[in-house]
Amino acid sequence: MTNTTHKVALVTGASRGIGRDIAFKLAADGFAVVVNYAGNTALAEQVVADIEAQGGRGLAVQADIADSDAVTRLFEQTLATFGRLDAVINNAGIMQMARITTDNVGILDKTLATNLRGSWLVMAKAAETVSEDGRIIAFSSSVLGKSFPGYGAYIASKAGVEGLVKVLANELRGRKITVNAVAPGPVATELFFEGKSEEQVQAIANLAPFERLGQPHEIADVVAFLAGPQGGWINGQVLRVNGGMV
Ligand code: NDP
Repeated sequence: MTNTTHKVALVTGASRGIGRDIAFKLAADGFAVVVNYAGNTALAEQVVADIEAQGGRGLAVQADIADSDAVTRLFEQTLATFGRLDAVINNAGIMQMARITTDNVGILDKTLATNLRGSWLVMAKAAETVSEDGRIIAFSSSVLGKSFPGYGAYIASKAGVEGLVKVLANELRGRKITVNAVAPGPVATELFFEGKSEEQVQAIANLAPFERLGQPHEIADVVAFLAGPQGGWINGQVLRVNGGMV
């Protein structure tokens, strides 16, 4: 099936959490959406079924973004199915708490593999593939500004992503493709809740003047703005979407 009448978006890590809401929002905005995931096939297929139930088009594709061959296959399947690609949102990511100790270097390696190497691979393929007036959107985190103990591996990976975004924006000079990052504050997803007590969750929620967590749809709305026609003059930026957490 090849259809070039609709814009097409690829969202990594769209089986759950923030990525799922990005997939729903972009589908509602008229994009055909590739729903990438790592292991949760049933959840990804449900996201596609929900998009189709609303009259949209979707495709679930398993691919580990840290694996170069898998990322190549992900983009090939996207083009084979939808015939074009207009927006790539590299939302997939992992977070594991680990203090900076010798024993924890494996957690650094794993985190960098998914969050930084994965961003490199997806952004590289996106740069090769997206159409003129296209969009590349990566994911950082507002926790970069907090330097909390235990976040070393995660913050290192996201600092790297912010660097890549600005360099790629410059490398795409003349191509009319924007490259930006969204850096959410704490958002109510499994990634955030994992391993935290209720007290810890509330303390972190209270960091923002709104004294609550962000919701996935509030991040999806910002991604949709960047991916849509009104986002065309925002380039090389990191948008901190966190309810005012400083
Ligand atoms: P979740 O843990 O809720 O969801 C993670 C998603 O990424 C799942 O769809 C998962 O697929 C997928 N995924 C994980 N590893 C890989 C991989 N190697 N290849 C492909 N897909 C993968 O995370 P969130 O929705 O909370 O986070 C989304 C992004 O937002 C991340 O980049 C995160 O760092 C960032 N962020 C999140 C914040 C928060 O508080 N939640 C705050 C700031 C930033 P599967 O279901 O198959 O496992």
